[in-house]
Amino acid sequence: MKKHNFYAGPSILSQYTVQNTADAILDFAGTGLSLMEVSHRSKEFVAVCDESRSLVKELLDVPSTHEVIFLGGGASMQFCMVPYNLLKKKASYMDTGTWASKAIKEAKLFGEVDVVASSKEKNYSFIPKNYTVPDDSDYFHITTNNTIYGTQIHHIPEVNVPLVADMSSDIFSRPVDVSLYDAIYAGAQKNLAPAGVTIVIVRKDALNKVDRPIPTMLNYMTHVEKESMFNTPPVVPVFAALQTLKWYKEQGGILAMQRKNEEKAAVLYDEIDRNRLFKGTAEKEDRSLMNVCFVMNDEYKELESGFASFAAAAGMIGIKGHRSVGGFRASIYNAMPVESVSALVQTMQEFEKQH
Ligand SMILES: *Cc1c(COP(=O)(O)O)cnc(C)c1O
Repeated sequence: MKKHNFYAGPSILSQYTVQNTADAILDFAGTGLSLMEVSHRSKEFVAVCDESRSLVKELLDVPSTHEVIFLGGGASMQFCMVPYNLLKKKASYMDTGTWASKAIKEAKLFGEVDVVASSKEKNYSFIPKNYTVPDDSDYFHITTNNTIYGTQIHHIPEVNVPLVADMSSDIFSRPVDVSLYDAIYAGAQKNLAPAGVTIVIVRKDALNKVDRPIPTMLNYMTHVEKESMFNTPPVVPVFAALQTLKWYKEQGGILAMQRKNEEKAAVLYDEIDRNRLFKGTAEKEDRSLMNVCFVMNDEYKELESGFASFAAAAGMIGIKGHRSVGGFRASIYNAMPVESVSALVQTMQEFEKQH
């Protein structure tokens, strides 16, 4: 039976990425060696790394003021690297969920942190709208897509300070005006590659402005100057990232991905709103196009485990909701075909008929 992969992360990758990476693991670029056993300084791998960085720039229209780097440590490492490198005195943060609050916790180690808005009191089911960001903040940190709660910022805040964003779960899903950001970061395992590489886009002239000493490996400048080759980069994930980036380009680029994502999300949310058994958990206007969270309607609560088994039997993988929201979460990242979303919708309809 066909499996439909709705895992939140690590998550579905394009077949193009999986196949080409599998091939390169056996024979990388005609070298007769596995991708896992070639020097990161070989000309073949240096070419992969360079092409990945330049494709990120091309797809996201990254201006020449910014540089793209590939780091280890996951998005979670960026929670401390961002303030280490960019927080001089005070930074503002928006608290929209678990990941945002982890970023806030780390920032407090480096200076004054102003949490200008939070949706915590409603279990992070919406994106705060009315708040002010002090003009003397070094930056304003946002989490553009809240993977766990299924909310997404659809209108990037207009503020007088540079933005910093955790885009782990929606990078490459829609166009970005990179010029507004001092830093953008994303763990690869949701929309790009297997876990192990984190993509960071930094504004070069925002670096080297803090007084504190920064350990070499945690200093963005080290990696900018060495073009992500200061130490051994995660070779296999970087190779896989290049395949995904090529696939995005071949699919028509980021605008084409956005159109496809809007279409997929509409199919699923329409069913959630129509089907009497289910309801969405996020405020409609803030619904994520990447992670769709839903629960049983109040009068059908006892059907939850029944639907979980019914969906599993129909080949739906990874739709169990995160424990902090409960119910179900279908992650429908870029690589998810609309056919899988339709299969889930059909499963929901069949379950409704039985009850
Ligand atoms: C998954 C995720 C993270 C954590 O990523 P790691 O690479 O596991 O550290 C951080 N932020 C967001 C928005 C995420 O979705």
